[in-house]
Amino acid sequence: AKDFGMDEALKQLGLKDVNHGTSTGNKWFKGGEEIASYSPVDGALIGKVTTTTKEDYEKVITTAQDAFLTFRAMPAPQRGEIVRQFGNKLRELKEPLGKLVSYEMGKSLQEGYGEVQEMIDICDFAVGLSRQLNGQTIPSERAGHVMREQWHSIGIVGIISAFNFPVAVWAWNTALAWVCGDVCVWKASEKAPMCAVACQNIIAGVLKENNLPEGISAIINGDYKVGEMMTKDTRIPLISATGSTRMGRIVGATVAERFGKSLLELGGNNAIIITPTADLKVVVPGAVFGAVGTCGQRCTSTRRLIIHESVYDKVRDAIVGAYKQIVIGNPLDENNHVGPLIDKESVNTYLSAIEKAKAEGGNVLVEGGVLEGKGYESGCYVKPAIIEAENSFAIVQHETFAPILYLMKYSGDVENAIAVQNGVAQGLSSAIMTNEMKEAEKFLSFAGSDCGIANVNIGTSGAEIGGAFGGEKETGGGRESGSDAWKVYMRRQTNTVNYSDELPLAQGIKFDL
Ligand code: NAD
Repeated sequence: AKDFGMDEALKQLGLKDVNHGTSTGNKWFKGGEEIASYSPVDGALIGKVTTTTKEDYEKVITTAQDAFLTFRAMPAPQRGEIVRQFGNKLRELKEPLGKLVSYEMGKSLQEGYGEVQEMIDICDFAVGLSRQLNGQTIPSERAGHVMREQWHSIGIVGIISAFNFPVAVWAWNTALAWVCGDVCVWKASEKAPMCAVACQNIIAGVLKENNLPEGISAIINGDYKVGEMMTKDTRIPLISATGSTRMGRIVGATVAERFGKSLLELGGNNAIIITPTADLKVVVPGAVFGAVGTCGQRCTSTRRLIIHESVYDKVRDAIVGAYKQIVIGNPLDENNHVGPLIDKESVNTYLSAIEKAKAEGGNVLVEGGVLEGKGYESGCYVKPAIIEAENSFAIVQHETFAPILYLMKYSGDVENAIAVQNGVAQGLSSAIMTNEMKEAEKFLSFAGSDCGIANVNIGTSGAEIGGAFGGEKETGGGRESGSDAWKVYMRRQTNTVNYSDELPLAQGIKFDL
């Protein structure tokens, strides 16, 4: 990693000799046990952070509560100005932060930069939004009355994030939450803690320059036990959690039990339907990038191709052919397409999924396996695999967070393909490749894809921040990022004001005294 300027990047991000892991902004707390972060790229130690103790957690939450009282009183466009400055800092630090994402998480450098670009984009979006947190005026049924709706800041937003987007998910939440007047406490993935410290350093600088108090941006570190401190805490009205369905099931129930709100962004099982009129020039890069990009570790990664029988052989051969061109190796080297999986546990999950698919009758078209030898010493580099399978296989129904692509055939009308596409428990992203207008519209209709994201002639992965992002069913139902996703970070209040001299009741009810 030295060859790729990692040392310099760590220095620019303030990550040399980190010995802490809990922060309310510019203040850091020493904390408990150490978490070491090893790069999946070369197995080297990047750094260590400490976990958050119960005592430190209390300090974080009380500081955040105090900060909220100041921050919510600041006019929203002024909060937008803070987010604008934060976006500018990210522009300055895009290179080192993108490199760190690539080095700690293992995604390609281009995707690392792309992730930081998403942070910048959401900041820009949020700055505009800071002047548009509009409520409605609503006609009242009573004479001399007005009704309106207002949006007020909600309080502390607890953010729990996954390893695979170690910086962008935080920014999607914080950029909106901050303009909404909320304060944020972030528990990052224990698999990418250095990214969290880097982000906190960046925002802390901005807050300090603006003389803002501690507690507007806080981070805590550790595994699910530290996450649970937040999910059980009634002082946190909203928990935004990104990760596996297994995690979301627990977090959703815990937060609901105390009547908190949760925004859940969970696993996907995303498919592309390839119809007889699909254009192979679009299908091949869309499907291959979707399946192997980020080494199959995107929530929107393409897991299944549902191909019409009339074009099956042609599409299969083209995709298998394209897999031969894939270069696997150090993701910091821009000549490589695919980097490593996050850790060896993930490698084992990948290997066992391939075995399960075979045991259920899957036909392996492109063999998987772990790469060994020079450059692959971390033991986390695997070969993207392609398996012909049935949608009903237990393993196909499950999200394996690795580059395994299942191919399946459909016959007859597009409705048959849509039934297969919808025939899984998850509902995040979906796509159809077609030049037939009726097929595309059916796919997008109420009777079409049941996913939160449905695309035509582009793949399943890679969303823009302007739209609301999230999915249905076991994906959790939450929406983040663009459109009106900001509303979840605020509380809605309906006001009725009487400017008459009478007191008419609603629904014409009479109550004469
Ligand atoms: P994970 O579920 O193992 O962990 C996610 C986070 O949840 C971590 O910070 C973890 O410490 C925390 N956590 C786990 N159990 C918890 C509990 N009981 N209480 C509180 N916190 C808890 O997921 P991962 O392996 O880091 O990420 C991969 C998963 O994330 C995949 O399923 C992927 O599809 C999903 N994902 C979804 C989206 C989306 O927007 N829908 C985006 C990225 C990743």
